[in-house]
Amino acid sequence: MSADLHHIGAGSRKVVPPTVRSDPSAAPRLTWNRYLDVIRHGLLMMDASGRVAIATGPAERLLDNMNAERTGKLSSRRLLHALCMSVSQSRREIFQTLRGARDFQTTASFEVTRQDHTLHVEIRSVAGEGWVATLEDVSARKASEARAGELARLDPLTGLPNRLLLRERLAEALARLQRTGEACALLLIDLDRFKPVNDTLGHPIGDALLEKVADRLRSIVKPADTVARIGGDEFIILQTSIREAADTQALARRIVDLISRTYMVEGHLLTIGASVGVALAPVDGVMADKLLKNADLALYRAKLDGRGTYRFFEPEMDARMQARRRLELDMRQALARREFQLHYQPQLQLDDDRLIGCEALIRWKHPEHGMISPLDFIPLAEEIGLIVPIGEWVIRQACRDAMTWPTGMSVAVNVSPAQFKSDRLVETIISALASSGLSAKRLEVEITEGVLLQESEKTLQTLHRLRELGVRVSMDDFGTGYSSLSYLRSFPFDKIKIDRSFVKDLSGKPDGDAIIRAIAGLRKSLGMTTVAEGVETPEQMQRIRDEGCTDVQGYLISRPIPADDLLQFIANYKP
Ligand code: C2E
Ligand code: MG
Ligand code: MG
Repeated sequence: MSADLHHIGAGSRKVVPPTVRSDPSAAPRLTWNRYLDVIRHGLLMMDASGRVAIATGPAERLLDNMNAERTGKLSSRRLLHALCMSVSQSRREIFQTLRGARDFQTTASFEVTRQDHTLHVEIRSVAGEGWVATLEDVSARKASEARAGELARLDPLTGLPNRLLLRERLAEALARLQRTGEACALLLIDLDRFKPVNDTLGHPIGDALLEKVADRLRSIVKPADTVARIGGDEFIILQTSIREAADTQALARRIVDLISRTYMVEGHLLTIGASVGVALAPVDGVMADKLLKNADLALYRAKLDGRGTYRFFEPEMDARMQARRRLELDMRQALARREFQLHYQPQLQLDDDRLIGCEALIRWKHPEHGMISPLDFIPLAEEIGLIVPIGEWVIRQACRDAMTWPTGMSVAVNVSPAQFKSDRLVETIISALASSGLSAKRLEVEITEGVLLQESEKTLQTLHRLRELGVRVSMDDFGTGYSSLSYLRSFPFDKIKIDRSFVKDLSGKPDGDAIIRAIAGLRKSLGMTTVAEGVETPEQMQRIRDEGCTDVQGYLISRPIPADDLLQFIANYKP
């Protein structure tokens, strides 16, 4: 007999009861037992010595189930007795408690499991004369609980383990690592460009795509590995039995390669990608939370490095992330603490050598780190959405400052893609113009191709509304993106700003000249102004003039100047 006995009151301790011998002295069954037999639960009555005096039919059947190879009333009655008496705790905790009890209240309960049968037993003292036990078959409930538990650990869409089960498997793998030294790895996978599929083709297609991704991931792991879906388009692989890091590198490479192959979903040919962050145990940590965090940091790096690739965790990623968090916290307070400043870089019109305007360039005067370049904080501000209030401040401040300049000079502000997304841009500009009193003609908005890459209909509407107000629109950093020419056709820009990199190439490389010449040529046919950025030498200036650009901006004219010094610069400027 090998039934497992759980004494619930004592914390579900498993014990192995001793062998049961038949008991010839078992008490006879009373005739009114038949009445009791109609009760679904089994009922047993025991005398003061703990012997079973009465057992109902259901009780015997239930006990028989627990001891399939034994039949017969005697042995089954004895079985319960044995079950109770044999629990090591039972002498102390069950029977001793019950024996001492002189009331009708003292109860003890436990569960006995044998194969797929589970019996819930509850024993109650009867005023010191004996005990009554009820037996309930809880096998079905236990099975459905187990099934529910299993379902709660699976992702309903893909059938893959979910975060819960992943964590259990990870805990097992880490325990194995402690015992046997067997290394494991976490590969955190984020799908690239999944959202546009979901947004443009609808969730049913998105779901079907996710199922296919799940199938592909399943196909490349070993049976002992776990593929889990832990978020909308986030998956994770727990790779076990790793001999060397190269095993994991090979898997990471396969993931990136396999996920980026084209999918056919309900007649649509779809292409997505995967970014993968990898953390290895024990090198990158032996605790689940740390490994997950480190895989996440590595994934963040993979995304920063252009997506569609994998990165292994490195300790400095953590330090960099902490620095970034501090910067983020500081930046959230910088507006209120008035730590931002605008510097202005003058622009020169070539045909009459006149200063026609300035570009507003933000600076952050950090209390500890000093002046921080926009290149070091604007990308983060864009990522966390803080660019919207910061950009709003820039627009208002630039309009106010420009009111102090000669009326022939305009001001250009840089506007990020995130500001176009926020819906408030046009209202902000109207309000900044109204409160400063600056004429809309003197305000210029500089956008990059990134603005036109997103929701182009809405963006174009916003650009046209700005145009109707009288605000001018420039295409900044022209030539650094990849489809600039088509963008020039999508909206009638007032100005093209030729990126600094082309101006740098002027002195020497013939293709630099050719590009500037081509852009200057476009100016004539499309009727736009062309500004060459980053002009640093008189030679560059001459070449720019020769190629037909209209304006220049660069260190040769001036570096960006603090607002307070600008008027003096303008007054003293001699071309
Ligand atoms: P940008 O709009 O292309 O601005 C021109 C950048 O080139 C400025 O860098 C300017 O200082 C630099 N520059 C100008 N002339 C020369 C030159 O002759 N030689 C060299 N080597 N560099 C020159 P800065 O101020 O560091 O700004 C960098 C970028 O940060 C800007 O590029 C712009 O994209 C962004 N940015 C600056 N202010 C703002 C702002 O208020 N809002 C937003 N959204 N972005 C801003
Ligand atoms: Mg600019
Ligand atoms: Mg630029």
